[in-house]
Amino acid sequence: MEPLDIKKYPDVVLRKRCVRLQEMTDSETILFEKMLFTMRHFAGIGLAAPQIGISKRLIVADIGEGAIKLANPIILKSKGLDQMEEGCLSIPGVGVAVDRPDEVIVSGLNEKGRAIEVKTKGLMARVLQHEIDHLNGKLIIDYLTLFEKLKLKIQGQGELTRGTNVKKGDKNEHKNPF
Ligand SMILES: [Zn+2]
Repeated sequence: MEPLDIKKYPDVVLRKRCVRLQEMTDSETILFEKMLFTMRHFAGIGLAAPQIGISKRLIVADIGEGAIKLANPIILKSKGLDQMEEGCLSIPGVGVAVDRPDEVIVSGLNEKGRAIEVKTKGLMARVLQHEIDHLNGKLIIDYLTLFEKLKLKIQGQGELTRGTNVKKGDKNEHKNPF
């Protein structure tokens, strides 16, 4: 299997709201496997379909405790609050400290089309929320304040204004982006 191309900011596909899946077909089952392969190839721990240019509500994640594949994921419940620096495969070289709930219950369809609920906390809860953001066209840089955006620019991390290019840098690159 060959890894798929990861779409990088400011590709417009990363800003689209993805469509719900009507039913799970063989093409989604194959897509899940390709997404997992691509995610692992680039040492990621999560990947959403828009990151490979497909505007469908599909996400995968694996933090080393087994793969999670979800279609139409929805956050049913969340609690707690935690902050962690996140990296994104679509925004290389940029790390952003993001506040998120620490525990979530996420519902969705598994690769067999069966409705499931995933209850998780810590890193996996964070990855699932980051991937669901992707399905709504939201990126980690959207969590930055204007001041932080300017600071990033000054540090040579590149333009973070929509429609311009982020320069690739190796500083602060998250070791396990998603
Ligand atoms: Zn990401």
